[in-house]
Amino acid sequence: MLKLLNPGPVSLTQRVRDSLLKPDLCHREPEFFQMQRRIRDGLTAVYSCPPEYASVLLTGSGTAAVEAMVGSLVAPDQGPALVVANGVYGERMAAMLRRHGKPFELVSSAWTEALDLAGVSRAIASCSCVLAVHHETTTGRLNDLGRLGTLCREAGRPLLLDAVSSFGGTEIEFENWNVLACAATANKCLHGVPGISFVVARRQALQAPGHSPSLYLDLQNYYALQEKDGSPFTQAVQACYGLDEALAELEQAGGWQARCRLYQQRTRQVEEGLIERGIQPFLAEGRSHILGSYRLPPGLSYEQLHDRLKEAGFVIYAGQGGLSNEMFRIAVMGDLSGQDLERLLAAFPAP
Ligand SMILES: *Cc1c(COP(=O)(O)O)cnc(C)c1O
Repeated sequence: MLKLLNPGPVSLTQRVRDSLLKPDLCHREPEFFQMQRRIRDGLTAVYSCPPEYASVLLTGSGTAAVEAMVGSLVAPDQGPALVVANGVYGERMAAMLRRHGKPFELVSSAWTEALDLAGVSRAIASCSCVLAVHHETTTGRLNDLGRLGTLCREAGRPLLLDAVSSFGGTEIEFENWNVLACAATANKCLHGVPGISFVVARRQALQAPGHSPSLYLDLQNYYALQEKDGSPFTQAVQACYGLDEALAELEQAGGWQARCRLYQQRTRQVEEGLIERGIQPFLAEGRSHILGSYRLPPGLSYEQLHDRLKEAGFVIYAGQGGLSNEMFRIAVMGDLSGQDLERLLAAFPAP
């Protein structure tokens, strides 16, 4: 079986794969609602969130959760939202606000740069809330949310976070960073299967009147029904089986802290091995332990490298937008061993 080094969906553990074959289940039966409760509680337990936070489960990919969060929690009439972007996913939240007809201000940096915190300082007072990406998968940069969160806390502005590629794999300081909500998915750092995504948010916001322009992605509606052990629409039952198992596996393995250490070890192995082969990291600083971007070796196109590695059993990922001719990406999420990564490195051209 190919090993997936793309940023989700990830290679499954046998345990999660086996869980998909549990008995057929109707999403309006008590057995489903028990699982829904266990998953919702399990998600907030990953970060020991205080009881003011709750999670809402959605059937859809990570983008569905981000759009449900942006659509339902950003008011159209309380001043502009502030989007802080340094990659595709930050810019996508701005595109959502544009599509929803909500005013926003965009403080953007080049994709190779850190978040523009000076720009945030200037704009934050006149904005209603702040939207940012935690781990910008475009380049593999872990954005400095310690500093952004402090700005949000000091200005009294809620932070809405796209944590799609960080939830479960690194720290999220819900209270310190003034996080009102964060959106994520089952099939990245949590090692579940695609189909289920979720938003962890303050109950206060989930109980307040919502702003969703979409009927399907109305977070407050999901929350109200899920709190009463209901579900507005058909859930991806088998993807819930997978997430339920993946959360148990994460907890037994030592939680996000252990997963973070594991990813750090894997990324060190990949980065050191590639540097030995003359391949340099694309970012000079700010590199995450979840996904690395690397400069293409001279004389090799992305397609050639991709096909060569696929032949050896690995799926890597292309650069996005203007970066597709310059770099490639390797994510270290999912079921991978040190030997897998040695085999990967051996499949690169010799220096
Ligand atoms: C993967 C990803 C998304 C989108 O997730 P989909 O499941 O492809 O919809 C959004 N934001 C970030 C940071 C991501 O890495």
